[in-house]
Amino acid sequence: MTLETAFSMDTSSIKYGPGVTREVGWDMEEQGARRVMVVTDPSLASKEPVTITLDALDKHGIDAVLYDQASVEPTDISFKEAIQFAEDGNFDGFVAVGGGSSMDTAKAANLYATYPADFMTYVNQPVGKGEPVPGPLKPLVAVPTTAGTGSETTGVAIFDYLEMHAKTGIAHRALRPIKGIVDPNNTRTLPKMIAACTGLDQLTHALEAMTALPYNQRPAPDHPGMRPAYQGSNPISNIWASRAIEMISRRLVQVIEDPSNDEARGEVLLAATYAGIGFGNGGCHLPHGMSYPVSGMVRDYVPEGYPPDHPLVPHGMAVVLNAPAVFRFTASANPAQHLNAARLMGKDITGASPEDAGEILADAILEIMRKVGMPNGLSAVGYGPDDVDKLVEGTLPQHRVTKLSPRPVSAEDLKQLFLDSLTLW
Ligand SMILES: [Zn+2]
Repeated sequence: MTLETAFSMDTSSIKYGPGVTREVGWDMEEQGARRVMVVTDPSLASKEPVTITLDALDKHGIDAVLYDQASVEPTDISFKEAIQFAEDGNFDGFVAVGGGSSMDTAKAANLYATYPADFMTYVNQPVGKGEPVPGPLKPLVAVPTTAGTGSETTGVAIFDYLEMHAKTGIAHRALRPIKGIVDPNNTRTLPKMIAACTGLDQLTHALEAMTALPYNQRPAPDHPGMRPAYQGSNPISNIWASRAIEMISRRLVQVIEDPSNDEARGEVLLAATYAGIGFGNGGCHLPHGMSYPVSGMVRDYVPEGYPPDHPLVPHGMAVVLNAPAVFRFTASANPAQHLNAARLMGKDITGASPEDAGEILADAILEIMRKVGMPNGLSAVGYGPDDVDKLVEGTLPQHRVTKLSPRPVSAEDLKQLFLDSLTLW
C-alpha cells in the first residue's frame, strides 16, 4: 500500500460580526444570483435570522423563495422533498438559515437540482454509490443560527437513512458553501440544551480532528480527485482544532449560564467555525461514527428545549456521550496529542505519564459535560446492554469516519466502547 504524502486546506470564506446577516443580499448579488431558495426549518421561519435574510435579499432585488420545511434531523425523505422544491423552483442560488440540518438540506437540494441523479448516486459508500460530484454547484451562502455544526465550512451533508436506521451522508468539496455568514446576533435566543449540545459537538469535532489518524498514515488516493475531504490530522487542521478546543472549553459554560453574555457567545460561535475548518479538513472518527446509530435508533427520549413532537437524541449529545470511552481507547495511539488536547481544555498535565493520557482527557470532557447538563451516558437516553449489538452494527458501515480512528477498531472493541458509554459517572 502506498501512503498519502499530501494534504489540502479547503474552507468556505467566512464573514463574522454582529449584524452581518443584513449583508446577505449583497453577498448573493455578488455571486450573480437573481432567484434564491432560502432554506430553513419551521421553528425559525418567522424569526429574525430568516426575516432579516429575506429582507436583505429583497433590498438587492433578488427573488427569494422561502422553503421552511428542513427537518431538524434530516432524513432521505426530507432531503428528497427539498430537492423536489429546488428542481421545481429553477433557482440560481441558495441561502441556508439555521443549524446544521438546514445547511445540509440546502447542500443536498443544490447538488441534486444542479446534477439530477438517483438519490443514492452521491451518498457515501457503502450505503450509496459514493460517486464524485461532477462539477461546481450553484452558490450557497450559509447563515448558522446554532454554534455547533460548523457545517458552513464543510462539504458534508448528513441525513438519517430511514431504511437502515442510521445516519450517513454525502461528502464532497463541491458541496461546501461559498460563504458562511457568522453572526452572533443569531444565537442569542438559543435554548440552553441546544446551545450545550451544539457546543459539545464542536468541541468533539476539534478533539477528533486533532487525534484522527495522521494524513500520511492513510492510503494514497488513486488520483487527486479521490482524495477525501476528511484527510486525517495534519498540521493545518491541527491549528484550527487546537484553538477551537481552547475557546470552547473556556467559554461554553459561561454561555450556558448566561446567554446574554455577548462576548462569550460570540467566541463560541467563532470557535464553531474554527472547529469546522479543523474537522472539515482533518476529519472526525469514532465519537461521530458511533453517534449515528445512537441518534438513528432513538425510541422515546425527548430532550428539553427541542421540539416536543418527536423523540430525538440531538447530534451533539449522541457524539459526546461516546467521547470519554473513545479517547481512553485511542490515547495509546498518540498519548502526546491526547495530553495536549487535555491541556488545551484547561487540565494541568505536568508530570502526567503517557499511560494516563486517555483518562485525563476523558476527565476533562466529563467535567464540561456535567457542567452544561448532559445526561449520564447512553442509559440515560434509553439504551441498555441489549442494544449494544445493534449499535455496533450501525457503526460498522460508517467507513468515512471509522477509518480515521487512530487505533484500528474491531466490532468487539466497539461493543466495549458502547458498554463503557452506558453510564459515565
Ligand atoms: Zn458533529
